[in-house]
Amino acid sequence: MSTNQKHITFWNGEKMPIVGLGTWQSSREEIETAINAALEAGYRHMDAAYNYLNEDAIGEVLQRWIEAGKVKREELFIVTKLPMIGNRPEDVEKFLKKSLAALRLDYIDLYLIHAPVGLIGKHDTDVFPHDAQGFAMIDMKTNLVELWKSMENQVDAGLVKSIGISNFNEEQISRIINNARIKPANVQVELHVQFQQKSLREFCKKHELTICAYAPLGSPGRNDFYSKLGLKPPVAIPDLFTHPVVVKIAEKHKKSSTQVLLRYLIELGVAVIPKSVNPERIHANFQVFDFSLSVVDMAQLGQLDQGDAGCTFDFSTFFKGMDKHPENPYPNRVKGIVP
Ligand code: NAP
Repeated sequence: MSTNQKHITFWNGEKMPIVGLGTWQSSREEIETAINAALEAGYRHMDAAYNYLNEDAIGEVLQRWIEAGKVKREELFIVTKLPMIGNRPEDVEKFLKKSLAALRLDYIDLYLIHAPVGLIGKHDTDVFPHDAQGFAMIDMKTNLVELWKSMENQVDAGLVKSIGISNFNEEQISRIINNARIKPANVQVELHVQFQQKSLREFCKKHELTICAYAPLGSPGRNDFYSKLGLKPPVAIPDLFTHPVVVKIAEKHKKSSTQVLLRYLIELGVAVIPKSVNPERIHANFQVFDFSLSVVDMAQLGQLDQGDAGCTFDFSTFFKGMDKHPENPYPNRVKGIVP
């Protein structure tokens, strides 16, 4: 199937489809429906992570589509991420190869360091290790420059086409750029109308880095996530769908709030990876290429930005003690998390 979707182009010429499917919190059972629906709707970009423990379910569906000749490998853009328990140079190849095997691929289009903080897992699926007192098992020796060299080696080996980072602050990104042989291609961070990351966007533009927005809809599914853990969300999870400015603009364009929220980020040149396991929503979230926002719409949506106060991901609840790590990316933000 041909799609009419747009791409963003990396410094190395690789093209990332601007809309991808998020897969955090999609159970292995839900994934089959979700990936099938996404591929049918025209998505070619899937955002995975070792940490989500569902790469094998994604890989099964991808393999079926490729073997049936319904899609070619080179038409797909698959992103996955090095887990924090793998944030050591000697562990990168091992975890990458585990992701490749699970996804049933022989290369990854974009491999990201999931977060700058290293953890010490008891075993390879202990992705969020805690001690008996509930403190995160942090690895105080994380060395981002050495870790990046190991990421570069994976490009040399042909196992990944591009490499990037997630949840890094500007100083950490600068440190990587200043020491890199192969520059990062993409930075994945929380970004939505309430938290528009203006400074980071300017910084990335200056350094020719592209951005992918996680939680582009404000990640409302976290209410369920926390309640399953028996916890209350530490920061109020915003309901961006019913915000009056978003609703009004959506009505004017005869689109949904979700489509306006995504289109806004696309117009800023940011890739979006809305997660859904519902085929109708997956389809609807892709219908964002048949309208555009006016200068006035853009200005009104721009005003919803709350700066750092609009950030909604919070380490503190299940990464107790993370603030002690030397690479904790957001020491001055009360919030900021890495699922
Ligand atoms: P999100 O995409 O902003 O929101 C997903 C939530 O919105 C789900 O609960 C989904 O429910 C619901 N939803 C989706 N489309 C909808 C629609 N059209 N109408 C109503 N509800 C809708 O949040 P996210 O999953 O946190 O972020 C997106 C992706 O970014 C993740 O899945 C993951 O791949 C990535 N991510 C990366 C990091 C990182 O540290 N790098 C952190 C967070 C997320 P249903 O499934 O029931 O439709």
